[in-house]
Amino acid sequence: MYIILLGAPGAGKGTLAKMIEGKFDIPHLSTGDILRDNVNRKTCVGNQAMEYMNNGKLVPDDIMIQIVKGRVLEEDCKAGFVLDGFPRTIKQAEALGLIFDELDIKIDAIFNLEASPKTIIERLSGRRTCGNCGAIYHINNIPSKVEGKCDKCGDRLYQRDDDKKDVVKERLIVYKAQTKKLISYYEKQGSLCEINANRKADEMFMEVCKSLGRVIKSG
Ligand code: AMP
Repeated sequence: MYIILLGAPGAGKGTLAKMIEGKFDIPHLSTGDILRDNVNRKTCVGNQAMEYMNNGKLVPDDIMIQIVKGRVLEEDCKAGFVLDGFPRTIKQAEALGLIFDELDIKIDAIFNLEASPKTIIERLSGRRTCGNCGAIYHINNIPSKVEGKCDKCGDRLYQRDDDKKDVVKERLIVYKAQTKKLISYYEKQGSLCEINANRKADEMFMEVCKSLGRVIKSG
């Protein structure tokens, strides 16, 4: 099953992707996680990406397309994946279309998570991430059992630098200017499913599962 999640930062793509990964046994491909891992390991890609990320800007398309091209060829992607954070520009969407054509992959579903500015700010300011396994929490909505510690691996939870106020502002500007266009891009292809993201993750997940159930039946 091949799924793409679209939506502004803070719309809940990461949380939803992890739920889809768990239920459908397909890997969660988060370009943000891949970049953060590269930054931590101080790889060449990480060093190139760091400044863009810290300023809430998009990492250049060519770098991102190469990353995704390489990742989808890995063994664990053979039966599908859920893409979170890519594409973010029309150029990336076009490149993804070509990659899918080459690999003879048909996208099963594209979900657009539509969240209000209030939801987005509330989610991003309360988001905490595990430094080790990447699990996502929220100080009010999805608290960990022990404050500041990951339920899954016990590692420390931290607030992403780019979830701080000034960077969030820039990320939302970039989203509106560059990424939002993808909604009409995919709408025109008739493959977009709108999800109201101003709800709890469980409720969004139920709607996604219903929709995927229909895809599985019709496939
Ligand atoms: P995310 O974890 O998806 O919110 O991504 C964090 C940051 O990584 C973004 O603000 C960008 O700086 C960078 N990034 C992630 N995915 C992409 C992408 N597809 N294109 C460009 N930059 C990206």
